[in-house]
Amino acid sequence: MWFKGGGKLAGHDGVMILAEQKNGRIHPVTHELLHRGRQLADALHTELSCVVIGAGRDDLQELIYRGADRVYLLNPGTMSFFLAGPVAGALTRLIREERPAVVVAAATTSGRTVVPLAAARLETGLTADCTELSIEPESKLLLQTRPAIGGNVMATIKTPFSRPQMATVRPHSMPPAPRDTSRHGEIIEKSYPILSGPEKFLGFIKDETQEVNLQEADVVVTGGRGMKSPAGFKLVEELAGVLGAGVGATRAVVELGWAPYSHQIGLSGKTVAPKVYIAAGVSGQIQHLAGMQTAEYIVAINEDPEAMIFKVADLGLVGDALQIVPRLTAEVKKLKEAR
Ligand SMILES: Cc1cc2nc3c(=O)[nH]c(=O)nc-3n(C[C@H](O)[C@H](O)[C@H](O)COP(=O)(O)OP(=O)(O)OC[C@H]3O[C@@H](n4cnc5c(N)ncnc54)[C@H](O)[C@@H]3O)c2cc1C
Repeated sequence: MWFKGGGKLAGHDGVMILAEQKNGRIHPVTHELLHRGRQLADALHTELSCVVIGAGRDDLQELIYRGADRVYLLNPGTMSFFLAGPVAGALTRLIREERPAVVVAAATTSGRTVVPLAAARLETGLTADCTELSIEPESKLLLQTRPAIGGNVMATIKTPFSRPQMATVRPHSMPPAPRDTSRHGEIIEKSYPILSGPEKFLGFIKDETQEVNLQEADVVVTGGRGMKSPAGFKLVEELAGVLGAGVGATRAVVELGWAPYSHQIGLSGKTVAPKVYIAAGVSGQIQHLAGMQTAEYIVAINEDPEAMIFKVADLGLVGDALQIVPRLTAEVKKLKEAR
């Protein structure tokens, strides 16, 4: 069968993931992608490759321990900062040469920027922001599942007529791949001409609104509309402060202007998977749950015993969050002082 890009569907084989990088180092979300990629490659009885663009040579063996059969290091030592054009250019060229059947990247800012560019150049489909990927046993097609229609349904999408099948997946929607130091693989370096685009790197501006990185925090404290006012939301920030936790917000809170968008957790915000998630005055609508339900231990504080958030909570406190949250803050302070 022939597809629009001019090649044969049958000529594509293998699963390829794009490593996520931060400050020139491999970001741990890459280990989650390797976990997914390994499962897909095993279901297809094929190889898993991992593409690292422009970083140093550190950390590459770790990618093999975590499931890659082959690591492609493209243009090592270059691109110390992220620019979409050159990264997408190198990725597109490698995909044309290696012809993988499946390409998966993280649905992070950089993945969401680079992969659509590559998919457009390759004239293939892309399903963004998937929460689940699997292989259909009969057709061997990639099943790409993501929330649709405001998160009310889960849609499963297939790409039968073009290759590669491309998808981005939400960080924290899968645990990292286990480490197996007995695994072997190869590391292949390639240098391509760096194609510069219209974009220029001007500098980094630190997000001053977040003291603790929400997506990397072990503990997240989130406030919802039930905190009643900006002063009420401050109580959430104070509890987060004493716990060294990230501060999360529902969309209702962001729309009310009590917290900036960078704190929003949910379908149209960030996905987090901390060890402990404390939700105060949050109803637990499906769009919010989409961003936090993989947290290990969920504590919910709500005055309504029927609130949806209690359905996913490990510990539920029924009562007034404006009273309970400051009491928790005081107790944590006492415990810290006693130590
Ligand atoms: C396409 C789409 C995308 C969306 N994306 C997101 C998203 O990314 N993130 C997100 O959060 N939402 C999102 N939403 C909105 C979502 O549907 C809800 O409207 C929102 O999550 C509700 O926020 P909330 O829980 O703060 O407010 P509410 O639903 O108003 O809930 C407030 C809760 O506080 C409780 N409460 C009130 N007073 C107190 C008190 N004193 N003490 C304790 N509890 C109290 C109430 O019982 C209630 O359960 C999206 C919606 C759509 C349609």
